[in-house]
Amino acid sequence: MSDQTEPTSQILLCSNCFTDEGLRIDAAKHGLEQQSDCPNCQSPDGQKLTLDHIKSLAWRFFVSGTTIRCEYGAAPVIQFNEHRYGQSDIAPSAWLENDIRLIEEAAKIGFFHYGPRLWMVGEVEPLKALQDPKTRPQIIERILREYPEGTLSEGSKFYRLRVSPERPAEPSEYDSPPVAFAGRGRLDSPGLSVMYGSQDLDVCIHECRASTEDELYVATLKGQRDLRLLDLTHPLEETETEFESLDMAIHMLFLARSHSYDIARDIALAAKEAGFDGVIYPSFFSLIRTGAHPFETAYGLSLRRFHPERNQYVEADTIRNLALFGRPMESGLVSIECINRLILTQVGYRGHFGPVEY
Ligand SMILES: [Zn+2]
Repeated sequence: MSDQTEPTSQILLCSNCFTDEGLRIDAAKHGLEQQSDCPNCQSPDGQKLTLDHIKSLAWRFFVSGTTIRCEYGAAPVIQFNEHRYGQSDIAPSAWLENDIRLIEEAAKIGFFHYGPRLWMVGEVEPLKALQDPKTRPQIIERILREYPEGTLSEGSKFYRLRVSPERPAEPSEYDSPPVAFAGRGRLDSPGLSVMYGSQDLDVCIHECRASTEDELYVATLKGQRDLRLLDLTHPLEETETEFESLDMAIHMLFLARSHSYDIARDIALAAKEAGFDGVIYPSFFSLIRTGAHPFETAYGLSLRRFHPERNQYVEADTIRNLALFGRPMESGLVSIECINRLILTQVGYRGHFGPVEY
């Protein structure tokens, strides 16, 4: 499929201009079908690229394609901009050298090794304070104070998936595991069972790490009354920099792997203590599901915080998960509406390319 573009946009390159197979495939996927010879390589049948196409291609391949995840946060190794035109300092594989020159000349940009601003790799004060058990409680107090209460209204549907339940037709199979088994997930801990669910069925599948081999069942559940939830997906209005941002701390916390679970569990325990029925939290798979790039920036500023249409930007990148405390079916907070067997016929992967050395 080709992208739409202005008919007047000037064609600068085409997919056949490139030697690197990854760049060539990406350019062919996003470029325009157009019957004309490429002004660079004269090929009639490559997909044609305008300036916008070339910049997007450069961003996917060199910025997103060199992004490295850290314990908290993530940052690209390479960036580019107009100011560095003619001053590139990257050392790519031999087969990429000419491709890079073509891109730089066509878009008048230069590639350079990016020293990330340190907040991007987790140097965020409230996040550091959360990692230290001594200072954690005072940040959790702030979280309870600053994040709003969300509601799952009575009658609202959500889904809960089980992999190979013993008795698939038995409703109690879909309640939280008994407390003796609690303490393995992101928010449950010894003594606190948690029911995980989502209003997005695809997220349930991702969160279960389900594969086509698995025997899967999905329960459709409904709230029996309005449920009070601490909404950790809400973008906080803040005046502080990224380095002091509680919003960024929470965003990074839920995109981190299992080393972060201790912190999330303490937040859940405090929310329960404060009388909430559960929390709404951003899915670890938000980025995969929405195709978003983690911690995207423009000139070192977080787009999550400074995007001109911030709420829409955050909304588009966030998948909400539900975690309800205790055993909500047993306690009558939620009831089962329906159980289905779920057959996965396809597990999708989509991706793009990046360089192997730089
Ligand atoms: Zn060409």
